[in-house]
This record gives sequence, C-alpha cells and structure tokens, in this order.
Amino acid sequence: MGRFFSQGMDSRKLWRYSNAMTDTLPPCTECASTFTYQVDALLNCPECGHEWEQGLPADEVAVVRDSVGNVLNDGDTVTVIKDLKVKGSSFTVKVGTKVRGIRLVDGDHDIDCKVPGVGQMGLKSIFVKKVSD
Ligand SMILES: [Zn+2]
Repeated sequence: MGRFFSQGMDSRKLWRYSNAMTDTLPPCTECASTFTYQVDALLNCPECGHEWEQGLPADEVAVVRDSVGNVLNDGDTVTVIKDLKVKGSSFTVKVGTKVRGIRLVDGDHDIDCKVPGVGQMGLKSIFVKKVSD
C-alpha cells in the first residue's frame, strides 16, 4: 500500500485540497453524497458505489483566484486593484471600482462582469481583489 500512496500523491493537485484535509471526508465526486467512508487510500460512496482517491477527484474544477489568492465564485463582489484601460475605448476602470455579481468564465479574461459606468466587460482575476459585499 505504501507504493500506492506515493503514486497517488501529486503535489500539484494536492494543494487544491489541502484545505479540505480535515476530519470530515469530502462528498462523493459522482453524486455529492456526504455518506462517504474511507478504506485504505480509497474513499467509497455507499449511495452510488463510486470509489476514488482522496485529492484526485474525477472531475477537477478549475479554481479562479484573485490577486491575493482568495478563491472567487460566481456572484462575488470584487474591487479593481489598478487602473485598467478598456480595450477599444477611452474608458478607464479606476482602481477601487467595486464590481458586484461577477461571473467566472474560461479564457484570458476570466471574469465576466458589469462595471459601473462602463458596462459589460471582461476582467482578469489577477487585477481584482475579493471584498465582502
Ligand atoms: Zn456517490
């Protein structure tokens, strides 16, 4: 079993789950059941019979982080941390601009949002910081 452990523990993937490494087991990666139980290195789901290794979920969800490493979610409120020129216009999104209800998208500009006074546009997560609404 020792060999199995060392193969399964990929540090690149593991960091995503370091916060989840608590006494409570994560929910089933297939059906989200919370009745999971552990057998050796494998987690088992009694609801759908799925078996998986902790820290290596079947479907990895991409995590978008802001400039200081907070995990961003749809609907979050962020502030812009530097003046951003809006491509193809004379607008500048000023530092400190508060943007509510962001939506995470794939791509270079990974936040889709409506900026007050500017309108619908894409922002890069590295230029924003999450704030409590
Ligand atoms: Zn399940």
